[in-house]
Amino acid sequence: MTAKILDGTVLAQKLRADFKTRAEALAARGTRPGLAVILVGEDHASQVYVRNKVNACAEAGFHSEKISYPPDVEPAVVLKKIAELNADSRIHGILVQLPLPKHFDSDAVLKAISPEKDVDGFHAENFGALMQGNPRFIPCTPYGVMKFFADAGIDLKGKEAVVIGRSNIVGKPMAMLLMQAGATITVCHSQTRDLLFHTRRADILVAALGRAQFVTAEMVKPGAVVIDVGINRLPNGKLCGDVDFAAVSQVASAITPVPGGVGPMTITMLLANTLEAAEREAL
Ligand code: NDP
Repeated sequence: MTAKILDGTVLAQKLRADFKTRAEALAARGTRPGLAVILVGEDHASQVYVRNKVNACAEAGFHSEKISYPPDVEPAVVLKKIAELNADSRIHGILVQLPLPKHFDSDAVLKAISPEKDVDGFHAENFGALMQGNPRFIPCTPYGVMKFFADAGIDLKGKEAVVIGRSNIVGKPMAMLLMQAGATITVCHSQTRDLLFHTRRADILVAALGRAQFVTAEMVKPGAVVIDVGINRLPNGKLCGDVDFAAVSQVASAITPVPGGVGPMTITMLLANTLEAAEREAL
């Protein structure tokens, strides 16, 4: 069997074209969706992510602001800026690029963002609403993964879904969304005793652990749908996922590649959340 490739670049383009149309309609009524991105420090990967987010906004016709601070900035300065952005009617979404430098209390910073503008969906109020099945903002990465299922017509009801990873950013909200869509979920992590036992039962397998090519063909049930969230850099400089793509694509029925799978969808869903926030405000 050769798996169907779930192409995140193609799906992202399709969704972004729709967002652009909706943003134009909103702008015609006087509201331009606006995203503010706060970057602290000089981490290279974070700079690339922020640049990509700002560029994606421009392409979709959104207003965006990038606010950069040196690594030794006082947390109070950043908190004051967040308070200003919370009150700024041009801004519908505020994002603080993580990780923050060590002298920051990241939880306190995320809590300072108004829940109405928390387009990452990391604020405890929004996370709680998601757990209750009544989300305001869905964290972008798992939100993007759900779009793959919808686009490919993959019905999740009654399926065995196994998520490897339990982070607040990916694994935990991912499992919750799969459960709410009707799947029976198992969440695995570094203390899981027999990972193979769980992964081999999975109709839907989501790998979000951050270990290069960790998921091998023998870990995958024939015909499973495999979603690779991982982004890892190999010693040769190439990017790869948490799944051994070449081998697993011979066993799975559908699979996301890395790069070009979940990655482009994450930024796309940031646009979705910003647009949805602007549309809610313009109601
Ligand atoms: P974290 O490091 O926060 O979480 C990793 C999770 O994987 C933890 O729950 C950990 O368990 C678990 N884990 C680690 N090693 C193993 C193992 N050997 N067996 C089973 N479970 C294990 O990572 P994130 O959730 O933030 O990200 C995961 C990956 O996804 C990374 O590669 C990251 O770069 C990528 N990513 C990609 C995005 C995209 O847009 N494509 C967006 C966000 C992340 P424990 O809790 O016990 O420590």
